[in-house]
Amino acid sequence: MTLTLYNTLTRRKEPFEPIDPKNVRMYVCGPTVYDLAHIGNARPIIVFDVLFRLLRHLYGEQHVTYARNITDVDDKINARAVERFPEMPPTEAIRKLTEETTAQFHKDIAALGVLPPTVEPRATDHIAEMRVLCDELVANGHAYVGEDHVLFAVGSMPDYGKLARRSLEEMEAGARVDVAPYKRGPMDFVLWKPSKPGEPSWPSPAGIATPGRPGWHIECSAMAGKHLGNVFDIHGGGIDLVFPHHENEIAQSRCAHGTSVMANVWMHNGFLQVEGEKMSKSLGNFVTIKELFDEWRGYSWPGQVARFAMLGTHYRQPIDFSQDALDQASIALSGFKTWAADIPGASPSREFMDALSDDLNTPRAIAELHRLSQLAQRGVHEQTDRMTKPGAMLEKLEASPAAQLSASLSFLGLDMESYDRNWVQNQSRLSISEEQSAKIAQLISARLAARKAKNWAESDRIRDELAAMGIQLKDGKDPQTGEAITMWEVKR
Ligand code: AMP
Ligand code: ZN
Repeated sequence: MTLTLYNTLTRRKEPFEPIDPKNVRMYVCGPTVYDLAHIGNARPIIVFDVLFRLLRHLYGEQHVTYARNITDVDDKINARAVERFPEMPPTEAIRKLTEETTAQFHKDIAALGVLPPTVEPRATDHIAEMRVLCDELVANGHAYVGEDHVLFAVGSMPDYGKLARRSLEEMEAGARVDVAPYKRGPMDFVLWKPSKPGEPSWPSPAGIATPGRPGWHIECSAMAGKHLGNVFDIHGGGIDLVFPHHENEIAQSRCAHGTSVMANVWMHNGFLQVEGEKMSKSLGNFVTIKELFDEWRGYSWPGQVARFAMLGTHYRQPIDFSQDALDQASIALSGFKTWAADIPGASPSREFMDALSDDLNTPRAIAELHRLSQLAQRGVHEQTDRMTKPGAMLEKLEASPAAQLSASLSFLGLDMESYDRNWVQNQSRLSISEEQSAKIAQLISARLAARKAKNWAESDRIRDELAAMGIQLKDGKDPQTGEAITMWEVKR
C-alpha cells in the first residue's frame, strides 16, 4: 500500500516519501480565535485529522508529529475584544476573548471526533522566534524596515508566486495604486508592524524603537520552524490560504533558512457551502459547529453525523453542507451501527485502506463501508443457515465483514459505541419533555411492530395518535440494509 497525496506545489498526485519515517511532520494552519468556529472551519480540522490517523497507522503513533496552531494575535481579535468587553483594559479583554474562544473550539472539535494534535502552538508563545526571523530576513537582504514596519521584499525572491502559480509582474500590475508609503514594492508584505496604544505589543526586532506586533504570515513560519524544523513533510489548510498566506509563509521560511522548500507536500481542502450558497452572515446561512450540536433545523446533530457527512465528499472538492446530507449520514450510520461488530484484533478491509491511501479518497472508503455492511447483513443470515448444517465452519471472526466494518468506522474516527442510532428520537430537549419523548419512542416501536405484523390498521392508528400530539413521522429504509427506520419531527 503506497500513500499518494495531491501536492498543490506540483499540481500532481505523488507517492508520499517522508524525510524521516521515524518522525513524519505535518503542520496545519489553525483557527484565529476571535469567534465561534463555523462548519467551514471544521472541514480542514476533520480532513487533516483523518490524514493524521492514516500517518500514525503507516509510520507508528510515536513517529508522527502534527502541529496545528492557534492564532491568538490578530487585528480581528483586538477589534472583537474591545467590542465584547468594553469595560476591561484591552489586554485583559483580549486574553478573555482568546481563552474563551479556544476552550469552545476544543469542545467543538472533540465532539467531532478529532484527536488532539501532537503540539498546539500559540502565536503569543512564539514572539521571540518571530523576532529572530525578522532579524535574519533583514540581515540577509530579504526584508527591510520602513516607518517602524518590517516588510518582506518579494522582489528579492526569484520564484515568489510558485505555489499560487502567479508571476510577480502580473501581481504587481493588478495591485491597487494606493500603496503604503513605507513599501518599496506593491506586493511587499508586513512581517512586523507598530502597535497603537491599547493593542498588544512586544519589543520590536530590527532595531525599531516603537513596540509592535507580528503580521499573520510570520506567525506560522515561526511556529512551524520551532516545532517541525526548517523543512518538513506536509503543510495543510483551506484552499483560500494558498495565496497570500502560504505563499508568504514559504517566502519567509525559505529565505530565512536558505532552503529550497519549506514543506515538501502542500495540501488544501476545498471550500464548504451551505445548501448551494456561500456561507455568510448576511445570507443568514452561517452555521457554527456549536449551533449544529445545540440546534440546527430543529435538531441537535450528533458529532458523528456531521463528521461522516463531511467525509462523504473528497477533501479537494467543494462540499455542499445541507440538512439532506446530514439526514443521509444519519441513516447510513444507523445501518452501520446495526451490522458492525466490535471484535478485538480486527482491521479495516484492504479496499478501505487502499481508498484512504489514494489521496484520502473518503467517498470510496465510504462506498466500501456500505459494501461491508451489506455483506455483514447477509452474513448474519448465512451464518444462521450454516449453523443448522452439521460440520459447518464459522469464518474467522476478526476477518468477518462485520468486524472489518467496525474497525473501518473507528479508523475514520467515528465513535460508534456512543452513537445512538435512534438519536432523532432523542431530541426531547428541543421542545418536548423527557416524558413525551419516551412516549413517542414507545409509540414508534409499537407501530414498527404492527407494520412488521402487517397490521396496517393499528399502524395507521398509531400514526394518527402521534399526529394528534403534533408529531410527524418520516418512514424510510436504510438504503444499504433495507432495515425500516422511522424518524420523527415536531410539526412546524
Ligand atoms: P480562518 O479562521 O478564517 O483563518 O480559517 C481557519 C481554517 O478554516 C483555514 O484553514 C481556512 O482555509 C478554513 N476555512 C474557512 N472557511 C472555510 C470554508 N467555508 N470551507 C472550508 N474551509 C474553510
Ligand atoms: Zn498558517
